[in-house]
Amino acid sequence: MRLRWIAAGIVVVLAALVGGLAFAYPSAAATTCPGCYGLTRVGDGLWSERGLTAAQQDQLIGLATEARRRVGDFYGGRESDPRLVACFTDDCYDRVGGGGEKGIAVLNRAVMLSPRGLDAVIASHEMSHVELHQRLDGDVPQWFDEGLAVVVSGDPRYLGEHCRRPDDGTALPATLPAWLEAASADQQVYSRAACRVSRWLDANGGPPAALELIDRLNRGEPFPALR
Ligand SMILES: [Zn+2]
Repeated sequence: MRLRWIAAGIVVVLAALVGGLAFAYPSAAATTCPGCYGLTRVGDGLWSERGLTAAQQDQLIGLATEARRRVGDFYGGRESDPRLVACFTDDCYDRVGGGGEKGIAVLNRAVMLSPRGLDAVIASHEMSHVELHQRLDGDVPQWFDEGLAVVVSGDPRYLGEHCRRPDDGTALPATLPAWLEAASADQQVYSRAACRVSRWLDANGGPPAALELIDRLNRGEPFPALR
């Protein structure tokens, strides 16, 4: 009898812990067990809502393939393979703990895409964050992480003609809170970060320069001034 109560107590504590985690990190729970959140497997490492049309499934498989190609092309292969959880409806995206963003990387092992982010640009942007952190032992300034993700994804909103103006060399936000504040005031901070990364890559031999920088940082060198 006593044992039973102890067992029941353990179950209650465990349920509270798991429930608490799920409450604090619904997106962590949802990307770890998409099936628990009513999602279904659409392709390799790719999950979405039940009842999709064949065309919707093809759209997701196509964007996942293209996004993986963009990341692999830039990095010369992928060391990460984040699970993709994609939602066609706000109801689905709310359920997995999403917010107002187009897409988001979750704990560096999964990527969630909202109904506003169902394309290869957003998917490969978030996958670039995951790939960089898989390869990196430490940290980089947030603006570099974001600028690189824009370059890897080839995001036309921030590259090309947006990079024609010369870089004024002013500091870009180094921390995540500073970045989020700047980006909520002006989305073109993505462009300033991406153009700086893009110019630096062009002047230093392209994507291999990013791999070399990662090596140097992993050997303990400080983040350099990029030029
Ligand atoms: Zn980003």
